[in-house]
Amino acid sequence: MHGIIENLINQLTRLPGIGRKSAQRLAFFILSMPEAEALSIADAIRTVKQTARFCSQCFNITDSDLCEICSDESRDRSRIVVVEEPSNILVIERAKAFRCLYHVLLGALSPIDGITPERLKIDELVGRVKDHDIREVVIATNPTTKGEITAQYIKEQLAPLNVKVTRIAYGLPMGSDIEFADEVTLGKALEGRREL
Ligand SMILES: [Zn+2]
Repeated sequence: MHGIIENLINQLTRLPGIGRKSAQRLAFFILSMPEAEALSIADAIRTVKQTARFCSQCFNITDSDLCEICSDESRDRSRIVVVEEPSNILVIERAKAFRCLYHVLLGALSPIDGITPERLKIDELVGRVKDHDIREVVIATNPTTKGEITAQYIKEQLAPLNVKVTRIAYGLPMGSDIEFADEVTLGKALEGRREL
């Protein structure tokens, strides 16, 4: 195979979930695309790598000092939803549950992997709660062991600061049948029950 195509295939295999076969399919697809369309993909990658940085307040991805969410004055600024990764914000925003502020930790605690509190944006969160009029911190880290340890740690750090700390409830997927739920999910759903 020609060197330039081979090179593109090799580059594409660096992406997660893209094996050799998929990379080949993508490479030949790109080759067949109109030049302008193919180059707009390349430009989008270049732009995101050259301009993307972390919001100085919440550590969301942005192209300026403050991200769009932090700059949006119409949001409820008394509530912060804490997530592990910037991509989690997109998902929560899509749920349209509330228009609040966020705080991205850029990971979850995992002492075994050397991810200690200093490696995450936890001090920055405590600072935000201290400096601003925050009434509630909603911890939306993943329902994993790391996510739970992180949630617990944050709760302890915020304890001295008179702020309500909540954890998102885990439940059953809508439209599902409890008969098919695994016991961990069901147990968590029962724990997170609320009054009707
Ligand atoms: Zn922000």
